[in-house]
Amino acid sequence: MAEVKPTSQAGGPAVELTANPAVGDGPLEKVYAFWLAGMSCDGCTISVSGAGEPSLEDLLLGQVPGLPRVILYHPVLAIDAGDAFMHNYTLAAEGKLDAPYVLILEGSAVDDSLIRGPGYWTGMGARPSHEDGNQVISVMEWIDRLAPGAAASIAIGTCATWGGIPAAAGNPTGAMGLMDYLGKDYRSAFGLPVINIPGCAPVGDNFTETVAMILHFLQGAGPLPEFDELGRPAWQFRHTVHNRCVRGGYYEEGVFAQAYGDPECLVELGCWGPVVQCNIVERGAVRHHGGCMNQGGICIGCTMPGFPDKFSPFYTPAPGSAVSSTTATAYGKVIRSLRVLTQDHQNRTSRWDQDQDVPSGWAVQRGSDSLLSRAADFLYRKLQFAKAVRPGSDTPAAQYRDGFEVEPKKRGNERAAKNK
Ligand code: SF4
Ligand code: SF4
Repeated sequence: MAEVKPTSQAGGPAVELTANPAVGDGPLEKVYAFWLAGMSCDGCTISVSGAGEPSLEDLLLGQVPGLPRVILYHPVLAIDAGDAFMHNYTLAAEGKLDAPYVLILEGSAVDDSLIRGPGYWTGMGARPSHEDGNQVISVMEWIDRLAPGAAASIAIGTCATWGGIPAAAGNPTGAMGLMDYLGKDYRSAFGLPVINIPGCAPVGDNFTETVAMILHFLQGAGPLPEFDELGRPAWQFRHTVHNRCVRGGYYEEGVFAQAYGDPECLVELGCWGPVVQCNIVERGAVRHHGGCMNQGGICIGCTMPGFPDKFSPFYTPAPGSAVSSTTATAYGKVIRSLRVLTQDHQNRTSRWDQDQDVPSGWAVQRGSDSLLSRAADFLYRKLQFAKAVRPGSDTPAAQYRDGFEVEPKKRGNERAAKNK
């Protein structure tokens, strides 16, 4: 465990390592990260502080092998406040830091020009002013000053990526994503367009994992990770929720929940999972716990650029879902009843089949099968072993190269013989 001591650097992190256990695989000893909050609820901050793969603490303490240490400046997590906290934002904007920095935006960018007269929608820090002593610096000004020199600019959460709830119809702020704000031609100092990690709130691990991979890239230790056409980490957002949903099997069999709390597919309650790109059901919300369908919630499309307007009204079935759910109901009923039949037989040992009895004291267990069920099982086994030897069948003697011969096994056992 590395020794830590209180920092002496104004605006610096809460702890500073005297020796870094992980550094050494590349040219960078540290990378600064400047967190800005636009039109935000701080939910992304909560998500990231709960991440585990890697954790925020591991990144800050330089405990991920091969990665530079991250020195984070965050308005919610910082111990310092006021000028002491803002000091290094200013140094970064002036290009006076001793290491590269990454810009992170949580919450929407906004259009300050919509305000009549002087003013701002979101601000951080202040500069001396002739009029009232201090003038708040808008977050948009910080983006303007920091984005060009950043090694990478990362938008976290749906507000920062696409605009999100602050950009819903009727909003007065002109809220938009960082990509909209910086424009199509924006490239970071390392040549990267804006990186987008959506979700409301996002999966914290999606963020820390992506940051770790970008740091590998900046360190020269790995390739640039794959991003899709909207700048999302492709491996995280390639699949739909439905592709990986724990309730997908119910959908396929045409069995749908009618009320919250039912365990089946939620599409008739308004789930948009079949068209939404999100990995929360496979990854969990925090350290593999939670996640919408895992906990009984429908997907309302919170990772998507069209959220929220294109997914409203929430809690009513999506217009197109009736086509697929009706189709699934039609063929699913047949498939499901055939599976129930097969499952019934697979829930018995061969010994119980021979005895025509199940030695279970549980009342729900039945003894012998119906004639129809046994006929179905007979046909099923015929098909199952049409091209293979059924376990327990007479098998020819096996002759090995050294002449050793294995006696063929005989079907049945002593107990079966006694029962005759
Ligand atoms: S709950 Fe939603 S995502 Fe899951 S199977 Fe049903 S429609 Fe698909
Ligand atoms: S499953 Fe849907 S509602 Fe849940 S986090 Fe993913 S996109 Fe958002």
